[in-house]
Formats: sequence, C-alpha cells, structure tokens
Amino acid sequence: MGWYADDIERIIVSEEQIKERTKELAEQVAADYADRDGVLLVGVLKGAVMFMADFARAFPLPTELEFMAVSSYGQAATSSGVVRILKDLDRDIADKHVIVCEDIVDSGLTLSWLLRYLASRGAASIEVVAFLRKPDAVKVDVPVKYVGFDIPNEFVVGYGLDYAERYRELPFVGVLKPEVYSR
Ligand code: 5GP
Ligand code: MG
Ligand code: MG
Repeated sequence: MGWYADDIERIIVSEEQIKERTKELAEQVAADYADRDGVLLVGVLKGAVMFMADFARAFPLPTELEFMAVSSYGQAATSSGVVRILKDLDRDIADKHVIVCEDIVDSGLTLSWLLRYLASRGAASIEVVAFLRKPDAVKVDVPVKYVGFDIPNEFVVGYGLDYAERYRELPFVGVLKPEVYSR
C-alpha cells in the first residue's frame, strides 16, 4: 500500500481483479458488437474515467470517446431523475452505437435520465457498461446490460470513485476507515 494505507479499511476489488474482469467485459461486449462499424463510448465524468480508459484499451473494435458531466438537482428533483448538464457531448451522436460507461449504479436515477437524453439525441443503439453495481440497482428499471462487479451496499472509493474528490486515483476499490469521515 502507499500513502493511503492509513485511510483504507479493506479492499473490495483488487487491481488484479479489475484487470482480469475489464478484459473479460471488453471481449464480451465486443462479441455483441462484432457486426457494427464501431462504437461510441460515452463516459460520465469524473467517476468513469479510469474504467473507461482501461475498458477502451481492452476493447478490440474501433472506438470513439465522448464525455458528459451531469449533476443532480436538489433532493425533490432527484427523485424525478432530473439532472443538470454541466458538460454536454461535443458532437452529434445520431446513428452511433452508444455504450455508456458508468462508474457505479446505485439508485440508477441519473443513468435513467441519461439514457432518455441519449435516445433523444438519436443514437442508433444504447447500452450501459457499469464498472460496479450495488444491490439497490435491481429495484430500478434501468437496463444495465454489462456489469463488472456486484458489490455490497457500502460506500466505496478508488478507481475513479471519490470521497470529497479524493481517492479517485487508487488502482483498486476499497472501503474507507470510519475515522476518515470525521477528520
Ligand atoms: P445513482 O444515481 O445510481 O444513485 O448513483 C450514481 C452515482 O452516485 C455514482 O455515479 C457515484 O457518483 C455516486 N455513488 C453511488 N454509490 C457510491 C459509492 O459507493 N462510492 C462513491 N464514491 N460514489 C458513489
Ligand atoms: Mg457515475
Ligand atoms: Mg462522487
């Protein structure tokens, strides 16, 4: 471990597991897209950056990259899944085969909004590849076709996921020690 040894209570998904699973996922997705001209990955900033970068490099078909940044409105609006676009797509996605790269699906509300938005922009097809999925995700009706790891209902950091903008750079997924929250 590095500087973070004092902050991490336990590792949930190791760097090795991530490497292996990302390769498997990329091959699985590629098999489904073998007859297309290529895909457009849409990454949701900032959490999906690490996963998207590794997934794209393991994905054996032509790939374009786009990014969006969104933020949920206040509590009331969140339940209706209304989000604000902080950074929109740079280009037209009409007739593209879009694969949304997500860091983690929990309530699925943001993702649900995003899928409607991408559909309204005329994508030829839309699927989701999520690095992590939490148990509550099964309660919502968001079609997440590809999932890296199902994890327990705990707050995790690392591999893109933050706590107060920290820990995104860790090469694994872990749980923070309780004292980190009270520092
Ligand atoms: P949802 O809209 O599915 O409830 O939540 C998705 C977003 O909530 C994720 O993109 C992520 O930013 C945040 N989130 C949900 N669970 C976790 C977690 O365990 N750790 C971190 N760092 N963020 C989480
Ligand atoms: Mg996300
Ligand atoms: Mg966050």
